[in-house]
Amino acid sequence: MLLTAKWVLPITSDPIKNGAVLVRRDKIAAVGPKGDLVGAYPGEEVTNFGQAVILPGFVDLHTHLEYSIFRGLCDDLPFTPWKMQVTKKGRKLSPDDWLSSAKLGALEAIQSGITCIADVNKTAAGLHAALAAGLRGIVFCEITGMDDSRIQRVVAEARDMVLRWKEATKNSHIKIGVSPYASYASTPLLFKALSDWAREEKLPVCFHLAGSPDEYEFVKHGSSALATSYRDLMGWSDFLWQPTGVSPVKYLEQWDAFEGDVLATHCIQVSEMDIDLLKKYDVAIAHCPRCSAKLGMGIAPLKEFIGHNLRVGLGTDSPASNNTMDIFDEMRIGLLLQRGAEESVEEFSAKRFVEMATLGGARALRMEDEIGALTQDKQADIIAVDLSRSHQIPVTDPYSALVYTANQEDVIFTMVGGKILYNKEEGTVLDEKAILAETRSARSKLWA
Ligand SMILES: [Zn+2]
Repeated sequence: MLLTAKWVLPITSDPIKNGAVLVRRDKIAAVGPKGDLVGAYPGEEVTNFGQAVILPGFVDLHTHLEYSIFRGLCDDLPFTPWKMQVTKKGRKLSPDDWLSSAKLGALEAIQSGITCIADVNKTAAGLHAALAAGLRGIVFCEITGMDDSRIQRVVAEARDMVLRWKEATKNSHIKIGVSPYASYASTPLLFKALSDWAREEKLPVCFHLAGSPDEYEFVKHGSSALATSYRDLMGWSDFLWQPTGVSPVKYLEQWDAFEGDVLATHCIQVSEMDIDLLKKYDVAIAHCPRCSAKLGMGIAPLKEFIGHNLRVGLGTDSPASNNTMDIFDEMRIGLLLQRGAEESVEEFSAKRFVEMATLGGARALRMEDEIGALTQDKQADIIAVDLSRSHQIPVTDPYSALVYTANQEDVIFTMVGGKILYNKEEGTVLDEKAILAETRSARSKLWA
């Protein structure tokens, strides 16, 4: 199949005007000018997207598919009250409700040009939805617990769950990882036990790190609402928690949490010394600019991450916190926040953010040999974005158009491993109508 459009963005080389991508089975067989490829492959079926750009699929480096129906539920709360509301409301949902919610997220992902996800998942709903949609990525099994006497049991249960999840993902594009969620939800001994086990099993690890000021206060001074009302809500108030006197990054280093293959989400409350530590352990960072701003967590020091040559990609963190899985919004708002904070336009360009949303995410997941760019022999994870609409023309630079004018609704084609998951004319591999109907009853429980 030959995909052609006004622009092709290989990411690792210059944009190709009037370009084409040849897909053979699950891989990219050739990339180049349309005239050359049409001439070289005369019998090939051609799909022409016209005034559009073809690029690698987006990597959503941090999400929770199962929280999709929480969209708009707790919009104007700071981090800890938001987290508590989401936790309380979530207790009303059945396993089927969680699955419907995750399917809604998977549907939105493929309609928005997301081909690869790093999903933190406590109910297995995100796993099953990602499999049904044909997405690529890593689903991290979420583990929490503040009772040190139960650590052996919690780790044993996690082992069983990961075995079952691995079995379910055979012959798919999904890998399994483990997530000791965050400093305020897992005791340090549990962090250490999970980290040791993940290293033994070569499992990738993901956790939330140094996000809100409340998390910083919780770790360093043993205070904030995370140390009081949140622990009451979780039934953890009888378990000892003491100030550690150090930053969240230093604290988790002391418990060996960075020893494996770690993806850390947020990393906002970090010092220069913390960033040096993240670099020392080659920790990858899921930068979620919209979620961080919306919950009043702050603005991550992206310039310093890049300056330290850390692996950084963009995450949406699910509609529960920032309402849409729109990577265009993450790029645009992420770029504008940095320029505002730095009082400078020098550091970040539209091109830099498109790279972060594709190849950057792939590197963060150590998948850059398979995805993240349009080059021969990479997996055919490809999207097309329409650039012909009134809010976009005229287009002179496709990078600029993607970051400053495009939205998730402009995505017209999504392919993973050579399989078309979404095509604007024909719809998605998922049953959109059924998913929207299924989520109705679950949503009514949340709003009751
Ligand atoms: Zn998250």
